[in-house]
Amino acid sequence: MTIDLHMHSTASDGTLSPTELMRFAAECGCNTVALTDHDTAAGVSEARSEAHRLGIRFIAGIEVSSLWGGRSIHVVGLGIDDTNPVLTRKVREFEVSRTRRAAQIAEKLAALGIPGMLEKATAFAENKLNASRVHFALALLEAGAVKNQQEAFDRYLGDGKPAYIMAPWPTVAEAVDLIHTAGGIAVMAHPGRYHFKNDWTVDELMKDFAAAGGEAVEVISGSQQPDFTPRCLAWAREYKLLVSTGSDFHSKTGTRPMPGTQGQLPAGYTSVLSKLTN
Ligand code: AMP
Ligand code: MN
Ligand code: MN
Ligand code: MN
Repeated sequence: MTIDLHMHSTASDGTLSPTELMRFAAECGCNTVALTDHDTAAGVSEARSEAHRLGIRFIAGIEVSSLWGGRSIHVVGLGIDDTNPVLTRKVREFEVSRTRRAAQIAEKLAALGIPGMLEKATAFAENKLNASRVHFALALLEAGAVKNQQEAFDRYLGDGKPAYIMAPWPTVAEAVDLIHTAGGIAVMAHPGRYHFKNDWTVDELMKDFAAAGGEAVEVISGSQQPDFTPRCLAWAREYKLLVSTGSDFHSKTGTRPMPGTQGQLPAGYTSVLSKLTN
């Protein structure tokens, strides 16, 4: 069994449509997949139809942007009801936040001498209601302001950089509640990617996440180093968390692993899949 419980489509900052993503994941050998777009479940219904046509198990998901300790933390929800009215209402709020933030990022870039980025970034976003910093990175690249996407984040868009805007995301606890309200299981996404100043801060994050009712942790992720897995497994034991794995796939040309190639779950731990019914 090859599983991948964290992937993005054009409903957020991925480059494949939900249908194309499911086809590619199946080609890559996945037989259990989740679609986890940032702050939206807009691609879920299309992806589910295609996954079922292909005969692979599909988990409806979302990756909720949240804030903790002044940093942006991602909480994945798996097994959500993508039609849940509370979730739908929240997604509308996230869309408003993203749209406002995009205008503010563009203003900051203009003040830094790079005008016209709102139109360019929006043009890269297939889902106009889900403008991402990745779309700004693509716009900066096209404008010749940076040599690659990473430079766009390092010089302008990354947390705390000159064109960074902190969006009014929910707290980690609120993100967990939202996922539960939508019938899903809350998974701490790629804890190895949050490079806090002090190494122990991520321990505090995991403690708060578990206290808020978070049930699972990505012990393997295309967005964290493989040598971070033992720490994740220690949290899984300490807080009795379920374990998950995902490539965090965004595009065929990206730096992250292809669907299902990120490494599978170790034996001796309870997979998040065991608590998912679909
Ligand atoms: P957003 O959801 O619009 O705030 O954008 C976050 C997305 O930007 C993440 O999901 C990553 O795909 C990408 N990203 C964030 N930080 C970086 C970084 N330092 N370098 C490259 N990509 C990043
Ligand atoms: Mn992303
Ligand atoms: Mn993430
Ligand atoms: Mn992701």
